[in-house]
Amino acid sequence: MTPTYGHLTWEQVRDADKDRVVILNVSATEDHGPHMPLDTDTVLGMAVAEGVAAAAPDEVFVMPPVPYGFNEHHKDFPGVIWIQPETLLAFVTDITKSLAHHGFRRILLLNSHGSNHPVLDLAARKTVIETGIICVSASYWNLISARINAMRKSEIGGIAHAGEFEAAMYMHLHPERVNLGRAAKQVVHNPASKFFNLDLAAGGSAAMLMRWWSEVSPDGTMGDPTVADAETGRRFLQAAIEETTALIREIRALPILPRVDHHAPDPGV
Ligand SMILES: [Zn+2]
Repeated sequence: MTPTYGHLTWEQVRDADKDRVVILNVSATEDHGPHMPLDTDTVLGMAVAEGVAAAAPDEVFVMPPVPYGFNEHHKDFPGVIWIQPETLLAFVTDITKSLAHHGFRRILLLNSHGSNHPVLDLAARKTVIETGIICVSASYWNLISARINAMRKSEIGGIAHAGEFEAAMYMHLHPERVNLGRAAKQVVHNPASKFFNLDLAAGGSAAMLMRWWSEVSPDGTMGDPTVADAETGRRFLQAAIEETTALIREIRALPILPRVDHHAPDPGV
């Protein structure tokens, strides 16, 4: 049976292995500097999801992506389509509840846009509470941070938004859509700061401040795309596919646990 959810018939959904992990990529449509297109997060997120489907075709279903996300802070850049976090939370949980209704028990919300991270964390938790199924959220770069740091050429701060990581992978996938000649280095990392660091692979900000994007980046870039190359991009993407495949195998193996209601019985009964 195909791992592409949209290619299934309703009878195939009825008869499908409901322990396959259903992957839903949620991304964004937004500025990625003068050198990359608005669809960067969707192209990269779906390349990871489809790579997992190629590696483990009998273990997953890949949903059509949600190509919009929580990014109103980007709207000073033309082209951005933003979704309110409350709307995104409701929209994504309507999808997960639909899947649960059809019997699917294991879902991975695969995030490919930074600011969706807290929304998808909530969506996964809400799905568990409302349906009882297993729903996991993960931002794909967090699965491979050590491997990114072993391969990267940029300094800390070079991988945040439209920087080395995203530019390299997009160059590997569609070199004709990336114009590195327009790219500029915009590293805003402050090594003196103890608590703020937006680097995707060497980050782990203890404190979070998301400013208006136009306050911190003149052209939409945050990072160093100038050192990006397609071969490193191929290796970044391969690492993301391998680690996401490992994650879906862990999700498939997770036990479905019974809830236990510890309230005392109603004495009136
Ligand atoms: Zn991006």
